[in-house]
This record gives sequence, structure tokens and C-alpha cells, in this order.
Amino acid sequence: MARAFAVPSVITIVALLAAACGGTPARPAPAPVAPSIAIVGATLWDGTGRAPVPNAVTVVRHDRILCAGAAGECLIPAGARIIAAQGRYLIPGLIDSHVHLLFITRGSAGEELGLDLRDLLAQGITTVRDMGTDPAGLLSRVRSLQAAPRVHAMQLVAGRRFFFNGFRGTATARGTIYRQPPALAMQQLGWKPVQFDSDGDADTLVAEARQAGAMGLKLYAQLDSGSVRRLTEAAHRAGMPVWGHAWVQPASVMEQVLAGQNGVVHAAGLAGELFTVEERATLVRDGDLQAATAAVATVGAALDPRVLAALDSMARRGTMLEPTLDAVRHSVATYDAKLRHKASVQEEYVRSASRFGMEVTRQAIRRGVRISAGSDHVSYGLAGERATLFGELRLLVDSAGLSPTAALLAATRDAARAIGGQPGGQVGTIQAGRYADLVLLAKNPLEDIANLEYVDLVMVGGKLWRPGQLRSGIAMR
Ligand SMILES: [Zn+2]
Repeated sequence: MARAFAVPSVITIVALLAAACGGTPARPAPAPVAPSIAIVGATLWDGTGRAPVPNAVTVVRHDRILCAGAAGECLIPAGARIIAAQGRYLIPGLIDSHVHLLFITRGSAGEELGLDLRDLLAQGITTVRDMGTDPAGLLSRVRSLQAAPRVHAMQLVAGRRFFFNGFRGTATARGTIYRQPPALAMQQLGWKPVQFDSDGDADTLVAEARQAGAMGLKLYAQLDSGSVRRLTEAAHRAGMPVWGHAWVQPASVMEQVLAGQNGVVHAAGLAGELFTVEERATLVRDGDLQAATAAVATVGAALDPRVLAALDSMARRGTMLEPTLDAVRHSVATYDAKLRHKASVQEEYVRSASRFGMEVTRQAIRRGVRISAGSDHVSYGLAGERATLFGELRLLVDSAGLSPTAALLAATRDAARAIGGQPGGQVGTIQAGRYADLVLLAKNPLEDIANLEYVDLVMVGGKLWRPGQLRSGIAMR
């Protein structure tokens, strides 16, 4: 009799939990309902802003957090699997709000994507936002993976010149040079930027982006302020966030902020504020733009009233900033490692962008701009040359003046706000009802952000993983 009752109730629970997930077409729920898991004895930093709770109890059932708090606040259900965590630190799963995951080389994305996602999970990263590759292609590949962070994807959008500039030749002393338009180089990697003309229909573009699985727009380049405004308004009508490069030629950061964009990426891009309206409209080719940026982006220029006005307006309106300092650091390190090489416009640009971007980030933090710790990580190429969230957080603390607590918020609660919408509301803090995305650390990250390296366990949607097993490819039970 008891058995006869047990079966329908299990099915009911699975159905209710599936309904609570908001209908995401994720992996099928496992057949038996997992028993509760209780993580007992850790110091809990829940990412909500409350002080760390020593000797805490955190209870997880299925893929959700049931309860998290002091021992008396949270009861351990009978039959729960206990994870003894005395002396450890429990934090929300980390979020990297800026990655590029899909790179098609020689016709396939190969194993790189799956291996990279396992490695990100091993670092305690349980959610990532792809800032522009190919939403439909990426999401269909990720769906078949066993061990991966949650993946959200943004749709890249650029203006007409991004798709056609270059076909028109440039006259030089050595003859006419033709370059391929930047959009072509992207398409060769399997990325799918979409074109928006200044007289285009923004609502149709947004509907198509949603159809492709994108959860928001990433404005990339060659968009004027009218286009930025119309795209932003259309996306917001559809409940989708809009992020963009700090500046999108010709629209400036100030124009992007006033258009209502949710966030801008790359602190060094605030150099766009230092150009005149005419320069912004005509600096189109990469080489010209880099040379002009290298000339204006000095450390002192980060204090230029036009840059500070853009930052103040971001702080006032809640427009977020992803500085992407670690990606720039990697580019500088590449030049530092070359013993003998010819100086180039590109190198000059990278070095000035690095110094300028760091100072802009310091000013942004001082002026109350909310930071999201997206790293601009790519899942392609040599592992040692890829930017990481860990590297970004270390730079934000060691060089840009964030406290370890503020840096952790930038990779949890605030990164979840950066993602926004329904998916952002499910992650980023340890609270009843949210996804059970957790990281158990052997050392205290609030004392030293570098202690994020000591990941003991990672949980994503209630499933436990040990970093060593993720990296060796052996599944954990
Ligand atoms: Zn990027």
C-alpha cells in the first residue's frame, strides 16, 4: 500500500519541480528523486550582503536550495546525505558573465568546448554568459554535455559597415589594399553576428534573436545612437537585457547609457569618449581606430571630464561595467614575452588600453559604478593564454581597489543581475528556492581572493563534482 502511494507522489514532485524551473528545455530530470543533501558546519557566505554565518547548515533538495542559515535556523531533514564541512567556506556558484565559447575550426568545435566547460566548472564557475558567438549552435552543443556550467547566450548585433567595410579599397603608397570586412572573420569562426541598418526593424531582430535562443543583445560595432536606442527599447519590450562594447562606433558610452543599455564591456573602451563627434563617425578601420586610441588613452585621460561624466551617468542609472582587465593583461603579457619584435600600432594600442582601462576601472569603482566580473574568457587556443574569472577577480582586488567581498559580489549576486531576467533571478545567491549552485572552499576567500583557488566541491543544480574528477573526466557519484 505504502509503495502504491510512493510512486504517484514521486512523479508529482518531479513534475512540480520541473514546472518550477520555468520550462527551460534542459536535461531530463533523473528518474529517482534525489534525497536531500545537507552541508553542515561550513562558514556560509550567501552573497545577499549578510555577514558570514559560522557553523551553518545548507539543505539542498533535487536542484534547489531548501534552506541556508545558522544551525538553529535550518533543520537537517531525516535521511539527508550529510557533507561535513567544518573549517570550510560555502559560497554561491561563481558566474562569469563574459565568455566566448564557440569556435569552429576545421569544420568542428571539437572536444575543446566540452573540456573547457568542465574546467570552468572545476574552478567553481556554475553559470556563464556567452557574449556573442552563435546562440543556437552553442546551446545545442551544450545540451548534450554532462558536466557544464549553465550557459546563457547573447546575440551579437552590428551595423552595416561591419559587414561591408573593407571591400572598398584603401589607397596606399604600395597600391590599393583590400581587407575583408570584420564580420567575415567572425563568420569564419562560426559566429553569427546579425546586421542592423539604421532604418531596420528592431522588434523583428529581437524576435529572431529570441528564436535563436539568445537571452539578450550584445551590441558590437558600427551602430549610431539612434540604432542603439531603438534596439535597446525593442529588447526591453521583449524583457531582454542589452549590453554592448564600450563604445560602438559611432555611438559613445554616454549615448549608450542614455539609451538605457543595461551594461557596457571593456573599461578601455571609455577612450571613445575622448573623440569628437566627427572622429567617432569616421574612425572606422581597425588600424586607424587603434592608432587614434593609443594616442588619446593615457593614464591621465581616465580623469578627463568626458570619461568621468560617462562613469557618473552609469553610476546614477545603474548601468553596469565589465572591465575585462585579465584579457588585456594577457595581451600585454604576450608582447612582454616576445624578446625581439618590431613595435606595431597594435602593441602600442594594447599597452595604452591596459593602463587607461585600469585607471578607468579604479575611477568607476570610486564613483559607485556596479561591476560585473566578466572575464572575456575564450574556450579556444592555449589554455595559459585565456583570460579567467579568477584572474579578473585578482586584478579587481589587487590593482583596481575592490575589497575581496565586493569582488565576490561582482562574480555572484551582481553578475546574476548582469545576466538579468528570469535566469539571473535563479542564481548568484544562496537562498531558499534558488538553484543549488554552490562552491565549497578549503580557505577563506574573504581574507584573500586568491583562496578561490582552493575549490573542494562544486555543486550545480544539486549535482556534486570534485575538481580533480572534472579535470580527469571521471564522473562523480
Ligand atoms: Zn568579449
